[in-house]
Amino acid sequence: MVKMRWWFAIIVCFAATQLFADDELALHLQPALEAITPDGLLAHIKVLASDEFEGRAPGTKGEELSVKYISDQFKKIGLKPGNPDGTYTQEVPLAGIKSEPRMSFITGDKMIDLKYPDDFVASSARLQPEIKIDKSDVVFVGYGVVAPEYGWDDYKDVDVHGKTILMLIGDPAVPDPKDPSKLDDKMFKGKAMTYYGRWTYKYEIAAQKGAAAAIIIHETEPAAYPWQVVRSSWGKENFELDNPNKNMDAVSARSWITVDIAKKLLTDSGQDFDALRKSAITKAFRPVALNAKANIDIKQQIRSFKSHNVIGKLDGDDPKLRDEYVIYTAHWDHLGRHPELQGDQIFNGAIDNASGVASVIQLATAFTKLNPPPKRSVLFMDTTAEEAGLLGAKYYVEHPLYPLEKTLAEINIDGVNPWGKTQDLEDLTDRNSSLDDLLGEAAARQGRVMKPSTEPEKGGFYRVDSFEFAKAGVPVLHLARGIDVIGKPPEYGKQKRDEFVAKHYHQPSDEVDPGWDLSGAVQDVQLLFEVGYQVANGDKFPEWKAGSEFKAKRENKSQKNLANDRLRPHRN
Ligand SMILES: [Zn+2]
Repeated sequence: MVKMRWWFAIIVCFAATQLFADDELALHLQPALEAITPDGLLAHIKVLASDEFEGRAPGTKGEELSVKYISDQFKKIGLKPGNPDGTYTQEVPLAGIKSEPRMSFITGDKMIDLKYPDDFVASSARLQPEIKIDKSDVVFVGYGVVAPEYGWDDYKDVDVHGKTILMLIGDPAVPDPKDPSKLDDKMFKGKAMTYYGRWTYKYEIAAQKGAAAAIIIHETEPAAYPWQVVRSSWGKENFELDNPNKNMDAVSARSWITVDIAKKLLTDSGQDFDALRKSAITKAFRPVALNAKANIDIKQQIRSFKSHNVIGKLDGDDPKLRDEYVIYTAHWDHLGRHPELQGDQIFNGAIDNASGVASVIQLATAFTKLNPPPKRSVLFMDTTAEEAGLLGAKYYVEHPLYPLEKTLAEINIDGVNPWGKTQDLEDLTDRNSSLDDLLGEAAARQGRVMKPSTEPEKGGFYRVDSFEFAKAGVPVLHLARGIDVIGKPPEYGKQKRDEFVAKHYHQPSDEVDPGWDLSGAVQDVQLLFEVGYQVANGDKFPEWKAGSEFKAKRENKSQKNLANDRLRPHRN
């Protein structure tokens, strides 16, 4: 009996200390969590998404206003300049390219003259005034993928140097041998999209193969967005990093055509689209030379300018850990203004991504309410040119202001949930690293359930800034909206999300809506605050999970770093 009581007392004591510790932590975090509010978010969104900001295109008045607004907010909150040079900005050399493309195909004695931008879009990353491709042989290369881990090579021994390659969008849609109505889970992650399915990959492999031009056939379902999105994303000024080599290593012409044009081209050259597409889903596929030639002429107006990532810093409290970092990111840029449009010409980008920038500002505010601050430093960065292909984030990881080996985590926000509190949330980074575990635990504390991405086929992860950090080995976290909206019918959340993608995503109508309920956004931002706080104050580095394609990069990097440290002479 006595023994039991002792045990009991110890357990009670232990539980009480734990409770006390939890309570104390809750009390410590409370002012920070309370600083994140629907009104706080909305106030920033309203400014950034106002018509005055003209859709926040890089290198325009919209950039000037955005960069100034965000830096001013960081200053006002009490963040230090995030750039060691004493400013709140990192210059990103960009080139804005306006293309006037013309494209036609010759098949036998027939000619298909394509209408821009109804039938096609075309541009070049090369910083040259004109790209001219004359009567180039057209070769259908299936999905255009080379994936050694799946024993997959769409090119085989066919040399496509100087040719125009025509490709399907998405990952090879390999059916499950046991149930052909489904995709094979062992090939290209089944229904989920791998990087091989992204258009960025397709143009990269085209460049490696020395192709003159790469044409992607647009299909709404595998692309995950309608032609309208391709048209408005590419049919305007596009941006590239202004690298010293003027991007001469990129494929000279990159294009998208509609599936209707592709069908016509194939029929006119004696082929059948459906049959070709079917042949492309096997390893045995071989490129098909079409009886067709492509003419592409792109006149380019190029302006080089400096765009900016905006960055603020909160110093860590621990002198030993202060040189380690957690970084929050959100892109500030959007699609700008399209003067050729009738009616509303401004792509306000309220959700995409004024809402993310507002979240980062609110997170910064929250962190400054902590007394003492976390042990490690926290960086808050709003990136430029995400819409143009994650360029601001890419530039940052190529020219980091703080060592990436000492950057414990990147937490990104792109588009908050404006439809109310949810019971669930989705993990776009899909349990890739221990950060996802922290997110799941924090969600459970809010009484919510973390689910894997419900739409892995859309490849959302490859379309956010986190991807650039992941490629560089930094563990990343990106939470996507839940759809189980509290107090609404079960279909409500999904309906709202689908409606947003169909009607407002990358359209001028992505505007502030008086019907929004940002209480759900607050829930999510508070979660991201908790995860970031835990990492900034924790006793270990987050780690990639076994099997993650980014793990090796991180480990090589830290080994290299150790070696460098050993070689570096000590100066102090
Ligand atoms: Zn976005």
